[in-house]
Amino acid sequence: MTQPILRISGLRKQFSGVEVLKGIDLEVHVGETVAILGSSGSGKSTLLRCVNCLEVASGGSIWVGDELMGYRQESGDTVRRLTESQIAVQRRNVGMVFQNFNLFPHWTVLQNIADGPRSILKLSKADAIERSMALLTRVGLADRATAYPRQLSGGQQQRVAIARALALEPGLLLFDEPTSALDPENVSEVTDVMAALAAGGATMLVVTHELGFARAAADRVVFMDGGVILEQGSPAEVFDHSQQPRTREFLRKSL
Ligand code: ADP
Ligand code: MG
Repeated sequence: MTQPILRISGLRKQFSGVEVLKGIDLEVHVGETVAILGSSGSGKSTLLRCVNCLEVASGGSIWVGDELMGYRQESGDTVRRLTESQIAVQRRNVGMVFQNFNLFPHWTVLQNIADGPRSILKLSKADAIERSMALLTRVGLADRATAYPRQLSGGQQQRVAIARALALEPGLLLFDEPTSALDPENVSEVTDVMAALAAGGATMLVVTHELGFARAAADRVVFMDGGVILEQGSPAEVFDHSQQPRTREFLRKSL
């Protein structure tokens, strides 16, 4: 087994005194694709947002590689700001793809992808464009480099968002329901790109309702319920031999 790139231990998160993550332990190893399933409100987005430092954990710890991103909050502890090296790890080593693409509308496809390599990695303009074009080719959109996001279908925008996330060559990719905002006919073009990434050795943590994708592309499936991980295992273990009634009920309703 390769070493974990992500180690989450005892992660807790409260909003106004309501605990929505109640002690999450999860490791993701280099090259692994882990799918997270669970009902709406079970805490899936909050978990990803804590990993990506969009939320500050209330307790527990999050390690990305050798860097501690989350905090063990002792009583009386105040929330610490991220240090420079934590920000660097978050920006360069963790890429995130959101449900609603989050592309900059007034930038072309190419500008959206090349911005990170330019501003964060300090690549030359020529190198940033070359890298961006190679990624656009990889997601099948080389001919749309000069288009604006609004000129693309949802599936195409999401493929651009994936290329943008890949542009910093992050060690870990997070996806939060990347196909939930798409028309049904656009879903497979995105899950095909994600499955190819998974098969190519990318390390991915994917919140998804696409059970077919999870079964085919994930090495491990995690089922969350009410702020805890209720069950996890191989796709066959979780889909065909679930140990938990809640998981079975969720799967039955999701078919
Ligand atoms: P999921 O992604 O599984 O649907 P979320 O992580 O979005 O679940 O939400 C888990 C719970 O936390 C929900 O009850 C939600 O209402 C609550 N929650 C999420 N974000 C916030 C927030 N910023 N403020 C208050 N409550 C929140
Ligand atoms: Mg969510």
